[in-house]
Amino acid sequence: MKGIIFDIKRFAVHDGPGIRTTVFLQGCPLRCWWCHNPESQSLVCSTWQKHVAVSGKIFQQSKESGYEIDSDKLFIEIQRDEVFMSESGGGVTFSGGEPLYQPEFLFEVMKLCRDAGIHTVLDTAGVASEKVLGNSMPLTDLYFFDIKHPDPTLHMHYTNVSLEPILRNLDRLLDAGKKVQIRVPVIPGINNGPEQIEKLKNLLIPRLERIEGIDFLPFHATGGHKYQALQMENRMNGIPSMKKEELSDLLEEFEGLGVKVSIGG
Ligand code: SF4
Repeated sequence: MKGIIFDIKRFAVHDGPGIRTTVFLQGCPLRCWWCHNPESQSLVCSTWQKHVAVSGKIFQQSKESGYEIDSDKLFIEIQRDEVFMSESGGGVTFSGGEPLYQPEFLFEVMKLCRDAGIHTVLDTAGVASEKVLGNSMPLTDLYFFDIKHPDPTLHMHYTNVSLEPILRNLDRLLDAGKKVQIRVPVIPGINNGPEQIEKLKNLLIPRLERIEGIDFLPFHATGGHKYQALQMENRMNGIPSMKKEELSDLLEEFEGLGVKVSIGG
């Protein structure tokens, strides 16, 4: 079966345990204001013009967003790194976009990986039907599960999707005993004020004993130029990237709850 991916990153060390190969699947139902891969949102392959600076001159470079690949061929690409994965306790991570947006293709590749004994991480925003989520469970060793905003109204405002079904999916995974690492993008002025942090705590406290930990991801403004090239509105225009140090209070506050916390990204 064919699917659409937009990148393969090899030797990744922040996408799960050990050395990993990360596959980025094209397509996402969310529209997060801070998305730094806006070219990955559409499920349609496209070409866009990237500006590249060389010796003070600006050149245009055509960039493909998304390319079709057969599940067998993708598996062969993943398998190329198997020696590094097995020696480091690593594996493969499926990210996006939203990988569950192409469930049949994703599951076919994941099944091949599982049959070959390759550890699998699924990095998801949790937007999927109950059936799709259920089908992912036997194929996934560890979930990276995003909580974009703890307030239902603001979640809809900033991502264009509801929070409630995402939380239901989170609870389905936890009830099934799956390993789940929560990931929270920290976006200045959007979800990092005291009121929003309190709401995040209230959302996570009843679930803390069943999650592996929380990873806070500081906002990166690195995708800003892509919005211009894609002729999309960049609603984070002019807001600088956050430094990891700016999250140290958050780290302390959540560590005080007795959960493993890290700052990633
Ligand atoms: S879930 Fe990820 S890929 Fe999708 S819009 Fe949000 S940041 Fe972008």
